[in-house]
Amino acid sequence: MTDTPLYKRVLIKVSGEALMGDQGFGIDVSVADRIAGDIKQARDLGVEVAIVIGGGNIFRGVAVASRGGDRVSGDHMGMLATVINSVALRTSLQKHGIDAVVLSAIAMPEICESFSQRKAMAYINTGRVVIFAGGTGNPYFTTDSASALRAAEIGADALFKGTQVDGIYSADPKKDPAATRFDKLTHKEVLDKGLNVMDVAAVALTRENHIPIIVFSIHEKGMFAEILNGRGRATVVTE
Ligand code: UDP
Repeated sequence: MTDTPLYKRVLIKVSGEALMGDQGFGIDVSVADRIAGDIKQARDLGVEVAIVIGGGNIFRGVAVASRGGDRVSGDHMGMLATVINSVALRTSLQKHGIDAVVLSAIAMPEICESFSQRKAMAYINTGRVVIFAGGTGNPYFTTDSASALRAAEIGADALFKGTQVDGIYSADPKKDPAATRFDKLTHKEVLDKGLNVMDVAAVALTRENHIPIIVFSIHEKGMFAEILNGRGRATVVTE
């Protein structure tokens, strides 16, 4: 190891959509394997890594609600989707020789362990990569909020959000060619400008707990470790 990483303990939030690659649905195993490789690079730097995965590649509760269905049932299905993704990523991490454990907010002991903060800390302190599944365990929340919550609970030095683009823009750069990119922002600016980075609850929770948010492209191979080494491309949200 030649570099000293910028952070000792981080939580990375990976959206479910990132796992589906070019498919319209589900999990592209080659993409999950690649993301696991990026996480291994971060571990090899000596950084403690915890993960939250979304479920949008499989199911989102709002999709049910918008068609007149029951939101709570829909959100339960969304949370189950995050467990599917977490099990897939655990498998990919194990292929890379990484000892990963899934801790779920919803008990399903035949598949994974149940979440408790003490258990999470014990695993992190013994060098395991911890994947937090099941979001917060409550409907009407998102995995963005879950990632801010778990980051605070484990005392993470930063919350990494892997997105479709290389940082935070004034508008969606895929829809608006005039969108401009920010290198740095404060949590307050993100909230005041209504920037579409993470949901408001997640930004507020990180702000209250003094946790920086690092927004970067999950599709850039090796970028996670580059940023940890102080060289990568990202938007940094700090106080
Ligand atoms: N969800 C929930 N509570 C949580 C986290 C997630 O009800 O604490 C449900 C919700 O229906 C959400 C779905 O799980 O739409 C998948 O999570 P999310 O939309 O955050 O996934 P992503 O967009 O990151 O893939």
